[in-house]
Amino acid sequence: MNDSDTQLKKLKDRILDFAKAREWEQFHSPKNLSMAISAESAELMEHFLWQTAESSFKEVMNQPLRQKVTEEIADILIFAIEFANVAEIDITNAILDKMNKNGLKYPIEKAKGSSRKYTEL
Ligand SMILES: [Mg+2]
Repeated sequence: MNDSDTQLKKLKDRILDFAKAREWEQFHSPKNLSMAISAESAELMEHFLWQTAESSFKEVMNQPLRQKVTEEIADILIFAIEFANVAEIDITNAILDKMNKNGLKYPIEKAKGSSRKYTEL
């Protein structure tokens, strides 16, 4: 299985089954999961602390950093997917809806090549 042939529903079920088998649902409140997402994001950032932007592009492609950040991305996504499970959020609809909103906030003719926030375009 890889990104090309995996359904999001299968990942959601796998993560839910993992938590259920361990009776971890009692710990998976939206509050705790939101904090876990933030904690794992901080772990990802720590790997790049003090690197230049240029070196981060290079190092992310090389071991041992590549394996470490791959695991942190997995941690972040697992907790985000579990949050969606617990809160009964349809991830596909959420992403597509948000991308539509982002498209309105950041029209290509104004945002192309700019890192400014939509309020400053
Ligand atoms: Mg981690």
